Amino acid sequence: MNKIRIGILGYGNLGRGVELGILQNEDMELVGVFTRRDPKTLTLATEKSKAYHIKEAREMADIIDVMILCSGSKSDLPVQGPEFAALFNTVDGFDTHAKIQDYYEKVNEAASKAKKTCIIASGWDPGMFSLNRLYAEVILPKGKGYTFWGKGVSQGHSDAIRRVEGVEDARQYTIPIEEALDRVRKGELPDFTPRQKHIRECFVVAKEGADLKRIENEIKSMPDYFSDYDTIVHFISKEELEKNHNKMPHGGVVIHSGKTGLNDENTHVIEYSLKLDSNPDFTANVLLAYARAAYRLNKEGIYGAKTVFDIAPAYLSMKSGEELRRTLL
Ligand code: NAP
Repeated sequence: MNKIRIGILGYGNLGRGVELGILQNEDMELVGVFTRRDPKTLTLATEKSKAYHIKEAREMADIIDVMILCSGSKSDLPVQGPEFAALFNTVDGFDTHAKIQDYYEKVNEAASKAKKTCIIASGWDPGMFSLNRLYAEVILPKGKGYTFWGKGVSQGHSDAIRRVEGVEDARQYTIPIEEALDRVRKGELPDFTPRQKHIRECFVVAKEGADLKRIENEIKSMPDYFSDYDTIVHFISKEELEKNHNKMPHGGVVIHSGKTGLNDENTHVIEYSLKLDSNPDFTANVLLAYARAAYRLNKEGIYGAKTVFDIAPAYLSMKSGEELRRTLL
């Protein structure tokens, strides 16, 4: 069997997750990890993996079937996404929801011109949650969908706390409010404010001599991030943060409830739930399944930018159509 040759662009949490995930997919092999840093400074997860400088990627385009873009969504992917779409089939986890359409257009233009297949905004949200929102909405058009996140670490919110003066390090957990979850699970269709759905709990390491009251107030009143939520702030030591908050768990639920029947007498509830010990490892495995799809679609001459909505599920699986029909259908 010819293996799908994978490249990894960017080596952070997600890049490492993809490196490990390839080992679980026997139809894939890693060609190399590409980084903007000196490749010698990277400590890769396995001895077999090789690191290269990003500048070397272009010359290796012939021996890479799919490049998985593992860089940051905020400022890396908006540049690298279209740039790499001109050279490789790609998959990424671009997760700035409000900018996905704009990003799609740029990647689509580059990929279509170069006859490449580029799957954007994959992962779990956007990604698996998006798919489940769509499936639920089409099945129960007379209904309403809800997404709850957590309990889990939000990188963006943790970063925002670190930018507050006097903060050395921080971890922010997003926690869904049980009472809200219960109401939705019962088939009620409530309208919630952000405060009624999630709590934000922050573990903060302050710099020596910093004014704790001011830090707490600044966090709680931060617009876009905390001011619309009930926020709990704990000050802890650096040691405690490293010992008790060093993992990256996340997850959540997509719930959709809807009515059928002449007088709406039947209530249906659809729930998709994720409980992830490691957000990057899980996201990486989703990206790999979509890398298989990008590879196959490209072989079939289907080019341009795609999202999870455009990919038929069978393209994700290593199994043949016959095997899928016999075992999973
Ligand atoms: P990260 O660890 O911050 O890594 C982002 C990039 O920063 C890396 O690719 C790497 O690029 C650089 N980097 C990493 N560690 C570094 C270090 N010690 N010093 C200097 N540079 C370093 O971010 P991540 O956790 O891998 O996540 C990547 C993106 O995935 C996030 O921005 C997020 O948007 C997305 N994501 C999406 C989903 C989803 O469900 N769709 C879920 C999780 C994450 P170089 O190697 O080139 O330097």
